[in-house]
Amino acid sequence: MSITTFLELKNITRRFSVDQPLFSTAPRELTAVRDVSLAIAKGTTLGLVGESGCGKSTLAKIVAHLLPPSSGDILLEGESIWHGSSETVRSLPQRIQMIFQDPVSSLNPRKNIGKSIQEALDVHRIGKSNDRKKTVTDLLERVGMRAEHYARYPHEFSGGQRQRIAIARSLVLNPDFIVCDEPVSALDVSVQAQVLNLLKELQTAFGLTYLFISHDLAVVGHVSDVIAVMYLGRIVELTDAQKLFDNALHPYTQVLLQAVPVPIPGRRHAAKTQNGDLPSPLTPPQGCPFHPRCSKAMQVCKEVTPNWLEVEKDHHVLCHLYS
Ligand code: SF4
Repeated sequence: MSITTFLELKNITRRFSVDQPLFSTAPRELTAVRDVSLAIAKGTTLGLVGESGCGKSTLAKIVAHLLPPSSGDILLEGESIWHGSSETVRSLPQRIQMIFQDPVSSLNPRKNIGKSIQEALDVHRIGKSNDRKKTVTDLLERVGMRAEHYARYPHEFSGGQRQRIAIARSLVLNPDFIVCDEPVSALDVSVQAQVLNLLKELQTAFGLTYLFISHDLAVVGHVSDVIAVMYLGRIVELTDAQKLFDNALHPYTQVLLQAVPVPIPGRRHAAKTQNGDLPSPLTPPQGCPFHPRCSKAMQVCKEVTPNWLEVEKDHHVLCHLYS
């Protein structure tokens, strides 16, 4: 694995104002992402896993330059994407792209898919107009579609094919970093593996770096070099994918792991139910935010927020059990 940091998140926090309840004058704020710092090495995949509502899609939008952070910064090869030069910001669409969970909403139903993919080349005036169609048909073939699909419309394709089209569109400007936000969550399990394998092939072929987001640890484990586990806006564990599967330290990660299928016929971990729902980020619990659901919670967990600790080399955790 390359050790060159390609993208660095520095203390990213994102707050949102929310409506005040009746008869209240106090302003209300929700912290969706809280002091997140991560580094992604060039040509690798950082997997971000956590249940729905934990803040991972908000973080994805901040990294993709679609939503500004309330504080903190993101450096792409050392240059700030939020406070950098206007030249850096202008070049971002050609460097960072995003693949969404639902390709239907990102494709115009009235445009054939070739035109939808080609649009970015037209807007940025990349290549001669005659060559743009050839670039798009080559790309369609690269993602497992056929050149003649250029003239067809989104409704003519299956969910897996539409996600391949969305992947082709994310690649058309030749970016080096892609944020994949739950890219296979809406697909059948059999199609999920094909799309994940395609993403891995494209990473090798084009030297891409990924931030890969999912609520499913099995999916994240399939594609990631490093995994960050997110809970209620914070990263609670960060390490190599192999280490996380061999020796998960945080009680929340351990519960996520128990829901991962075991590839032995006749054996399968039961998906252990979390103890209660994810608390509201508007009223996060005092101390460790996981304590109301943690089977190992101690008195200190209810009162004191744990510190970020490196328990073994390159294995960090936010939990009082290791302090
Ligand atoms: Fe559980 Fe305490 Fe660790 Fe939080 S700090 S995960 S409550 S043991």
